Amino acid sequence: MLMILVRLVYASHFKQNDYTTTELARILEKATANNGASDLSGALLFGDDYFLQCLEGGREAVNKLFLKICQDPRHENVLLLRYEEVSERKFEDWSMKLVMLTEKNNSLIKRFSTSGKFNPLRMSSQSALDLMVAIRDH
Ligand code: FAD
Repeated sequence: MLMILVRLVYASHFKQNDYTTTELARILEKATANNGASDLSGALLFGDDYFLQCLEGGREAVNKLFLKICQDPRHENVLLLRYEEVSERKFEDWSMKLVMLTEKNNSLIKRFSTSGKFNPLRMSSQSALDLMVAIRDH
């Protein structure tokens, strides 16, 4: 059966705690293991306590994971930015690549964000995707 391939992009806000790096490591570890097994790929950007994530893969697997992610108490204000059927993946080499945005990404952030700051809850869906692709190619 032909798999329907989809791409989903959402933004959210991290619920702050004292263990940010531990929590991020846990999320990444889980994502790497689960996504590989479900043939999912994608990217997860983290900066200024915001997440921007792209999930790519079979329609059912992407939807199932997104429902889980929406219920995850470690973040809030989950905002779906885009959901589309695609013919190919943009992040096929990454089961889930975590990119921490730092000063060195500032020029990229400025290029794709009207406010000049990383707040993906306020970005257009195209800018959000373009930023992730630019980081992939950086
Ligand atoms: P288990 O790991 O067995 O977890 C069972 C339940 O416990 C789940 O409801 C889970 O949400 C909750 N839970 C687990 N650890 C914690 C914790 N430290 N604090 C609070 N609740 C916890 N998962 C993926 O598989 N792929 C991804 O790409 C992915 N990206 C994520 C991105 C973000 C920004 C966040 C916040 C989470 C992401 N997760 C991802 C994790 C996801 O939300 C689920 O926690 C995970 O998929 C559950 O895996 P599991 O079904 O094997 O259940």
